[in-house]
Amino acid sequence: MTRNWVDFRTVKANVSIEMALAQYGVMLHRVNRCHIRGRCPLPTHASKNSGQSFIVNTQKNPWTCHSSSCVAARGGRLGGNVHDFVASMENCSIRAAALRLQDWFGMNSSLGSSGAAGHAPTEPPADPSRNGDSNRPLPFTLTGIDSRHPYLAERGVSPETAQHFGIGLFPGKGSMAGRIVVPIHNEDGILVAYAGRASNQTEPKYRFPTRFGKSLVLFNLCRAVHHGKRVVIVEGFFDCFKVHQAGVPCVVALMGCSLSRRQTDLLEQHFSKAVLLLDNDKAGHAASATIAAQLVPKLPTRLVRVPEGSQPDQLSEDQIRCLCIPGYF
Ligand SMILES: [Zn+2]
Repeated sequence: MTRNWVDFRTVKANVSIEMALAQYGVMLHRVNRCHIRGRCPLPTHASKNSGQSFIVNTQKNPWTCHSSSCVAARGGRLGGNVHDFVASMENCSIRAAALRLQDWFGMNSSLGSSGAAGHAPTEPPADPSRNGDSNRPLPFTLTGIDSRHPYLAERGVSPETAQHFGIGLFPGKGSMAGRIVVPIHNEDGILVAYAGRASNQTEPKYRFPTRFGKSLVLFNLCRAVHHGKRVVIVEGFFDCFKVHQAGVPCVVALMGCSLSRRQTDLLEQHFSKAVLLLDNDKAGHAASATIAAQLVPKLPTRLVRVPEGSQPDQLSEDQIRCLCIPGYF
């Protein structure tokens, strides 16, 4: 069989980094819905101290290792795609890596067709966000939620705000037991999931139902649409609560630091201007630039910077208003 044809795009579309990692027997642990991390498996990795430096975005599929030894070996690049990963593992060219992937996952076809030729798995691993184009309505609601739990006061969320969003400590049983639960609605206001934030040092910090597609919704969209055409976009729930509490009710949260196609469509559909208010840390900088680049062709977007090293939920209400409302001062 001829194997010189390399269909990079098809390989990239069909082989997730998780599948490639599995070929090498590398197991990473999940840190949130879209990221897994762990010890860097690359042979270029020389540092002994960076035990958790290898991070994979399982939604978009790039990987990074921020360890300086590893970055230097790649000529300053922090990471790459599945081809780059195998090329680094095997110390081979990108083309050789793609050929290897085609081979492993049954895509070696002399015609270079995009169809799978073999019996090996060619489907990307199950990702709840790809299991359809919507989240199903949740068939139950949690009761007994305590909106006056001290954790909320610690985070600066008033009881009024907590009640407005229906958040609080869930005292019942199950996966959300003892967590601060956050009801999540779709754009029609239908409850589709609860997120559970640990109210102490318990890991994971956030828990989402496994079938919930975070990238298919914008948190608070169903309420924000009633407050005008100029939307403030934040990363997290608590950023959203605080911006609302500061008197800026037209706010939505991405529930992460990436913007999906679906979320972009929702923003374009409902708003005419956007203010991007993301965390001001390293990850936030990169995310702001990427998200702004995605949004600008669709929606006039203003990127505002919170003070260095901080995130919107740590700001005073005056600071938030000052950043979000042009001409506030
Ligand atoms: Zn590394």
